[in-house]
Amino acid sequence: MDYDVIVVGGGNAALCAALSASEFSKKVLVLERAPEEESGGNSRFTAGLMRIVYNGVDDLRPLIDLSEDEVGRTDFGTYTEEQFFDDMARVTEYRCDPDLTEILVKQSHPTVVWMRKKGVRFTAAWGRQAFNIGGKFKFWGGLTLEAVGGGPGLVDSLTQIAKKNGIEVWYRARALSLVADDAGVHGVVVKHQGKTKTISCRSVVLAAGGFQANTEWRTRYMGPGWELAKVRGTRFNTGDAIRMALDAGAAAHGNWSGCHAVAWDRNAPETGDLAVGDNFQKHSYPWGVYINADGKRFVDEGADFRNYTYAKYGRVILQQPRQFAWQIFDGKVRAQLRDEYRIKQVTKISANTLEELVSKMDDTDQKAALETLKAYNAAVQTQVPFNPNVKDGRCTRGLPVNKSNWANTLDTPPFEAYAVTCGITFSFGGLRINPQAQVLSSDGEPIPGLYAAGELVGGIFWFNYPGGSGLTNGSVFGRIAGASAAQAA
Ligand SMILES: Cc1cc2nc3c(=O)[nH]c(=O)nc-3n(C[C@H](O)[C@H](O)[C@H](O)COP(=O)(O)OP(=O)(O)OC[C@H]3O[C@@H](n4cnc5c(N)ncnc54)[C@H](O)[C@@H]3O)c2cc1C
Repeated sequence: MDYDVIVVGGGNAALCAALSASEFSKKVLVLERAPEEESGGNSRFTAGLMRIVYNGVDDLRPLIDLSEDEVGRTDFGTYTEEQFFDDMARVTEYRCDPDLTEILVKQSHPTVVWMRKKGVRFTAAWGRQAFNIGGKFKFWGGLTLEAVGGGPGLVDSLTQIAKKNGIEVWYRARALSLVADDAGVHGVVVKHQGKTKTISCRSVVLAAGGFQANTEWRTRYMGPGWELAKVRGTRFNTGDAIRMALDAGAAAHGNWSGCHAVAWDRNAPETGDLAVGDNFQKHSYPWGVYINADGKRFVDEGADFRNYTYAKYGRVILQQPRQFAWQIFDGKVRAQLRDEYRIKQVTKISANTLEELVSKMDDTDQKAALETLKAYNAAVQTQVPFNPNVKDGRCTRGLPVNKSNWANTLDTPPFEAYAVTCGITFSFGGLRINPQAQVLSSDGEPIPGLYAAGELVGGIFWFNYPGGSGLTNGSVFGRIAGASAAQAA
């Protein structure tokens, strides 16, 4: 055997799998399709936010170096197992696999403690997940933990730790197929720096991401129009490992027509740009209103905390005429807009009156837009106070599409409008695994020697997703897959 365990992919799930495998096996190889400077998949594009269970600040202390001053100035609250379960069940419309979800929830905290012990550093996401009201930060959305250095920090740190632990990493190494027979999987055919070779091993962990960067598969499985979405992250996640496993008899599983997709700058490039990272996203819509090309509102911007709506609203934007929409804010909420609104590469217009603003909204029915904004202003229940830290019930009444929370009138210049389209993050459909992360065949049996983790696993996320669960999912099941693969080897 050339290796005990081969891990296909170079993102968070793959690196966690490799690290975990190396606790039980000597010879672990990581195959990363991307060149080194683009390595790390979607994980590198993230903010490094990870959704984990914690029952108070004491559960965060082993992960984050918190000063007493920081503890005094912050209400971390709690995020209990029950809350995580409830969020998963509710946002996936009760379709998430119960066994895998239980593992995701219950292993979330132990897994990040394991990562911390390996050397990954974490901080609290004060910048994006907490609002400072009256001198005290309050975490509002169950999402508190962030890797130091965001996604690039997480990937670089995991890669360095992997290499220090004797794990080999090959870049520009695209896995093409599995070496498999009736007894299971015994190796990988890989094109490494232009040369195709066959490498033998005892077990393979597939962690090569979803198929969102494959335009043809996107359109085939998600439906007409999905070829028009922009890809938020890596261009390398084209479903290779899913196809390889299906060819070896694996079952297709989960929400193949579903995906995570968000509001993304209308003029962003077709696939992610690491220099901009996740900053093409525009996530402050709960403080403003959406208008489409017909000049109409089409979605409840304040239906829930942003962490529970942003991943499904990309699809809603894609369904609008010309696949785009405007996010409109006024001067009152400008300071509360997230940092991504202040980047150079932004499609934005500003004006001192609503009339002037709509006159600059190209591709849009401007008359209808002005009528919509005026009707919206008149419908806001201004007697209810605005509070971003809770679902404040400050709503509109009597509109064709009402806003349930955080409805502010648009009355204070400067007015701003940001043009967004649909940015796809990752596909939800993929392979079926059991709690040991073994890939199941279409007959429901584990395929000997084959394991999977991360984006390419189906059955966990359906329709929607609680923000920050993707990295946790990759880490939890990557760790399990690596250990199972190595112990079987
Ligand atoms: C802009 C953006 C922001 C995000 N923010 C967050 C966040 O803050 N928190 C969060 O939890 N989630 C976030 N996500 C989602 C998150 O990125 C994913 O859920 C997670 O990173 C998936 O990890 P993974 O290891 O499964 O896949 P990836 O990190 O995408 O890794 C897949 C790897 O497989 C490699 N690969 C592909 N094909 C092959 C092949 N044939 N052979 C060898 N290698 C191959 C790729 O090059 C890549 O290295 C974000 C995503 C994006 C795009």
